[in-house]
Formats: sequence, structure tokens, C-alpha cells
Amino acid sequence: MGNRRPLIAGNWKMFKTAPEAADLASRLKSLLHDLTDVDVMVAPAFTALGVVADIVKGSAIHLGGQDLFWEREGAYTGQVSAPMLKAAGCSHVIIGHSERRQYFGETNATANRKMKAALAGGLMPVLCVGESEGEREAGQTFPVVKGQLEGGLNGLDAEGLEQATVAYEPVWAIGTGKTATREQAQEVHQFIRGRIKESFGEGIANALRILYGGSVKSANIAELIAMDDIDGALVGGASLDAESFAAIARNAVRPVKDHS
Ligand code: PEP
Repeated sequence: MGNRRPLIAGNWKMFKTAPEAADLASRLKSLLHDLTDVDVMVAPAFTALGVVADIVKGSAIHLGGQDLFWEREGAYTGQVSAPMLKAAGCSHVIIGHSERRQYFGETNATANRKMKAALAGGLMPVLCVGESEGEREAGQTFPVVKGQLEGGLNGLDAEGLEQATVAYEPVWAIGTGKTATREQAQEVHQFIRGRIKESFGEGIANALRILYGGSVKSANIAELIAMDDIDGALVGGASLDAESFAAIARNAVRPVKDHS
């Protein structure tokens, strides 16, 4: 069974100019310099990747893109490719975030193409899934998450899955201050791990990190990370403040889980 290291990922969304991002990254680097038991990743806007990469280089903070396009290069105005993210210093990329689905036409099929492009480009993709409030109220949480998972991971092999992370982000909890209870989150995380086990086998399922996202703060991360299938968090709002994000990363340290 895998002892999964927690991962705390910060999605800075469309916040922070390059100088502001540089300042946030410098403060984080200093606040987290002695953190050893938790992986940390930050995903600034594309315009800030370069400066943040220079700052976090040599530290334990990993860099991620917030999205990518599946082609390597070409006449695709406004798009950024996996090789571009990689060359900018990224190790990770967020794919299928609910805001991409809601405002920019992301579908399970496009998320799947992006997953494949990320893996082909040597990036570790973080696939976001999660139901809306209406879907939860209609009892559709599991079918929706299953569809997003199957669609996003379609055609991937075990080797690809080893590089991937899944983030369960109930849309009703993103930026709303409403966090899923740890039981609500655990139930869906367990469901996701079960589906991965069915499709890719037990070893991959046990090793896969499944993050929770939705109004995570330093005050609630400890109870979330204590759950068997919650392996960290994708953090939006609270990742924009160095002290808040550092406190989340510090509170995500947990005793080694025995999954045997
Ligand atoms: C997110 O956008 O991925 C997110 C979880 O945002 P917040 O933490 O602000 O709810």
C-alpha cells in the first residue's frame, strides 16, 4: 500500500501581476523553507511563471500551469502548450478546473486531450472533477464525478496515471466559504479511488493522490487530511496570502497512514 505524501497546491487564478506573484513566492519560500513532509505546488498566471520559477528554483516548491492547450505549437492565438510550460519551469499543470468548464467551454473530451498532452510533455497533470450544487441536490454526485473521471482519463495507461493527481472540487464549495464536510469529501474520494482501482488496478489506485478543493483554510485542512482518502488540497483564495497558504501546508503534515 502506498504512503501518499500530502500535496498542497495553490491555484492563483487570475490574480497577481508578475511583481506581486514574485513577492508572494518569495514569502512562501521563506515561510516553507524547512517543510519536509508535504509537497507544495503553486500555479501562478502564465505571465508570472518566469519570475516565480526563478524564485522557487532549488526550493521544495513546485511550479504548475493553470491550463494548457493540447497542440505542441501552431497558430492558436492565446494558447500555451505543454513544452512551453515545461520550458518555463513547470512540473505540474491543472486541467479541467470548474472555472474552465463553466466559462471557457472545457469538456471531459478537451480535458482528456489536455491530460494526454501534459503527459506527453513530461508534466504531471492535476485533473479536477466535481459536481455542482444542483447535481448534488439531484443525487447526481457520483455519476457526474464518474463521467468526469472516465472522460478525463480515457485512453490513459497505468504509466500515465502514476504521474497524475485527481482533485475533487465540489463546485458549490469553490470560493463560497462552504467546505464539504470531511465525511462528504471522504465519501467521494473513496469513490474516486474505487473507480481508479477498477480501471487501473490496486497499485495505481493506492498510489494516486486525490486532493480536496473548496474553501480550504488552515483551520479545516487538518480534519480533511486525517481522512483515509484525502491526500492534500487544491487551494484557491487562501493560496493568495503567504501566511494562510503556508499555514495550510504546515497543518497538512500527518502521521504516516497505514493503508494495509
Ligand atoms: C479552486 O479554485 O480550485 C478552489 C478550491 O478555490 P477556493 O479555495 O477559493 O474555494
